[in-house]
Amino acid sequence: MRIITRSGSSVPASDHADWQSILAASFRDAGSLLEYLQLSPELIAGDAIKAAVKQFPVLVPPGYAALMKPGDPRDPLLLQVLPRADENQQVEAYVPDPLAEKHSNARQGIIHKYQGRALMLATGGCAINCRYCFRRHFDYSANRLGRRDWQQALEYIATDSSISELILSGGDPLMLQDDALSELISLAEAIPHLTRLRIHSRLPVVIPERITDALIRRLEMSRLNTVVVLHINHPDELTPAHKEPLNLLRNSGTWLLNQAVLLKDVNDDLMILSDLSERLFAFGITPYYLHLPDPVTGTHHFDSGDDTALRLHHQLRSTLPGYLVPQLVREIAGEPYKIPYISLTSGQ
Ligand SMILES: *Cc1c(COP(=O)(O)O)cnc(C)c1O
Ligand code: SF4
Repeated sequence: MRIITRSGSSVPASDHADWQSILAASFRDAGSLLEYLQLSPELIAGDAIKAAVKQFPVLVPPGYAALMKPGDPRDPLLLQVLPRADENQQVEAYVPDPLAEKHSNARQGIIHKYQGRALMLATGGCAINCRYCFRRHFDYSANRLGRRDWQQALEYIATDSSISELILSGGDPLMLQDDALSELISLAEAIPHLTRLRIHSRLPVVIPERITDALIRRLEMSRLNTVVVLHINHPDELTPAHKEPLNLLRNSGTWLLNQAVLLKDVNDDLMILSDLSERLFAFGITPYYLHLPDPVTGTHHFDSGDDTALRLHHQLRSTLPGYLVPQLVREIAGEPYKIPYISLTSGQ
């Protein structure tokens, strides 16, 4: 197979590349990524960067790196994955667990925070490490669920008939292989009061080959209504290589939604956000949420500020049809839903 780059040209990948071998070929250190992009190693020099990487390692799949512009240190995809010295700064109000997920940890691997929906940390790993990640400090080791623990974790949901939706999150739940995922879905299907299965994943974006026929077929045959919430922050992340797999997934009956995070210098710009919505729509994906970044230690440099967020959202509303405007939300610990941010006046 070949990986199609933004310009439409393609770079060779290994011959029989399935998603797991593509994942295995990921960049795991910032130096080789910079070399690949013909950028100076100076960008990651210094002890602060070393400490940042030790906290949260670099991981970038090759196809995602191929979408970055060589020689551009401000490429919006690169900025999402390149460690920065700023990550080590302690900034007031930025804490490791701002969402207090510890307190809604109903049982190992289950977070039950909102009415009717329970979230399962199906796996700790991801296919890409995003520097802004709000779960970068989450204690996955204490919450790691092995395949043998699923049944027991799901008992929590089986005994609470107010829960109608199971959300698979992580980490990235699509890191599970198809047979394991299928087993997990079967366990969920056996709980009579569940009607919806939602999967939150960035994997189909960073490795579109993850949308396998087996995955599509399994979701299609489920008795549950299936929703996949993708996590796309920038229009450059969607390429012609995504089109067919996403179409197949959608045409098999799975709803496709997108959540993005508003990130300084990555997408805090009206043109970029409106391009993102247009592109999502062209790929059959409905914009769902635009998250204000959570105040997680080590991520303050991604915050554009609430005023900018409100202004951009207002401009987006003035530019696009309502169904292409994602809800601007922030998660606030203890609140019963993600809190919408709305500017009621045009001056904002
Ligand atoms: C975001 C989230 C949900 C889902 O919220 P929606 O508003 O339905 O998208 C559920 N549980 C947890 C713990 C969450 O963080
Ligand atoms: S894919 Fe999601 S969970 Fe994984 S590092 Fe990125 S933002 Fe965090």
